[in-house]
Amino acid sequence: MVSERMRGLGTARSVIRELFEYGKLRAAEVGPENVYDFSIGNPSVPAPAAVNETAIRLLTEQPDLIHAYTSAQGDLAARERFAASLNRRFGTSYTADRFYITMGAAASLTCVFNGLACPEDEFIVFAPYFPEYKVFIEGAGAKMVLIPPEIESFQIDFDAFEQSLNEHTKGVVINTPNNPSGVVYSRATLEKLGAILTARSQEYGHPIYLISDEPYREIVYAGFEVPWVPHIYKDTIVCYSFSKSLSLPGERIGYVLVSKDVTDADDVYAAVAGAGRSLGFVNAPSLFQQVTSLCRDMTADLKVYEENARLFVSALREMGYHVVEPGGAFYLFPRSLEPDDVAFSERAKKLDLLIVPGSGFGAPGHVRVSYCVQTETIRRALPKFQELADSYK
Ligand code: PLP
Repeated sequence: MVSERMRGLGTARSVIRELFEYGKLRAAEVGPENVYDFSIGNPSVPAPAAVNETAIRLLTEQPDLIHAYTSAQGDLAARERFAASLNRRFGTSYTADRFYITMGAAASLTCVFNGLACPEDEFIVFAPYFPEYKVFIEGAGAKMVLIPPEIESFQIDFDAFEQSLNEHTKGVVINTPNNPSGVVYSRATLEKLGAILTARSQEYGHPIYLISDEPYREIVYAGFEVPWVPHIYKDTIVCYSFSKSLSLPGERIGYVLVSKDVTDADDVYAAVAGAGRSLGFVNAPSLFQQVTSLCRDMTADLKVYEENARLFVSALREMGYHVVEPGGAFYLFPRSLEPDDVAFSERAKKLDLLIVPGSGFGAPGHVRVSYCVQTETIRRALPKFQELADSYK
């Protein structure tokens, strides 16, 4: 006997992974240059040279100590560097003891959900959303409440949101810049969200935490602003990751920040640490705690994503696709040219164009196009998008 839930999770087909694997098989058949794979969100630019240089330097200078255990919550010097970096950028006064270093944003989120969730608790998520939220929230024994997408701008449908809040709401998850829409929540959206949460927290007599999932914080385009969410709503818990900003998804480093302004901050921090312990997420990889914290103020060369976005959006619009302009991250979320996004994605696949149906992100009638690829790949794929559009005429 095994856990049915875990067996189900372990064997469930991920549409993204399946497309990605299909792409590799197909590339072997017809040549990689003839497959246009926009399925997966793996950064396409290398980490800054300083990342590798720092890793090599640390391995050479401290060969005895660098692989040692750190404190469960992460090395103190690394946490101090993360705090100093945010304080400089956002005018805050965070201290090292408010940071819990984790294996990427995935572990940050699971530590937060498991740390917060009590019986009957609910977490609100806005569609379109990162599908792992459901796995993480339900894994923590809580209920995910999904708010339907506001498809004109992919900001927030506040009427639906207000109707879904109730005394069981423990937290609300936001992800801006967003996977899969690429949209950045405006300051006005965040302020309205903050005001509603403040009023409802008062009404219910307990805080509603805003969980800000920020792996794409640094990938933001000209003309867009990503406000520092804790300045807008004090009960914000930040889940960060270096996977995308430093192009290090395989090294698994991120952090949870529970500032002292958060209601019951010490209990929340202790619960996050307890969840880390219970889940086995103590001591994120030692070498890369050091590397990321020493390279904390750098990013990979992210400008290709903006170039790709501009090229893609204008070309697709000219072909008649409806697409909301992304303000960051590296995803487009155009409408499918028929209501059935799965059928649309299948038709694209026949043209060796790999794009992911939106239903898995809670937004049927759309597809996700990951443009963390070489710009040249997009240029070569455009005739295929045209062919796809023509097939509906
Ligand atoms: N949250 C979102 C919105 C993501 O897109 C991802 C990864 O793609 C994650 C969390 C997980 O990030 P990490 O690789 O740091 O665990």
